[in-house]
Amino acid sequence: MQCLICEEKEKLNFFDNYKLEVQGDEKYFNNLKIYNCKSCDFSFVHPMPDENKLNYFYINIIYYLIRIIMLDLFPQIEPYEYGLLDVDNIHKIYWEKHFDLDWSLSVEEILK
Ligand SMILES: [Zn+2]
Repeated sequence: MQCLICEEKEKLNFFDNYKLEVQGDEKYFNNLKIYNCKSCDFSFVHPMPDENKLNYFYINIIYYLIRIIMLDLFPQIEPYEYGLLDVDNIHKIYWEKHFDLDWSLSVEEILK
């Protein structure tokens, strides 16, 4: 084993076992350990996970979780008003209005 940046082989300290709080991550990252290089202060895992497993993990698990979180934070709602805005002779921008806020109110007044 050697540092991925400076290729140091001796001054590598075991830091911790790799932990990811996503269910099923052991399947992709089992027995990974985190090391820190004392020469260049770079931290890395060893052994490096298989690239195909890593890509599969990010595309199918992480992106999926992000989509669930985003839909929870920003549920799909129907706009009450929408239209196209002419930018020039060719291009238009689609716009939607979701809230009819009275901008003269303060945040405290809106949240009441
Ligand atoms: Zn290093």
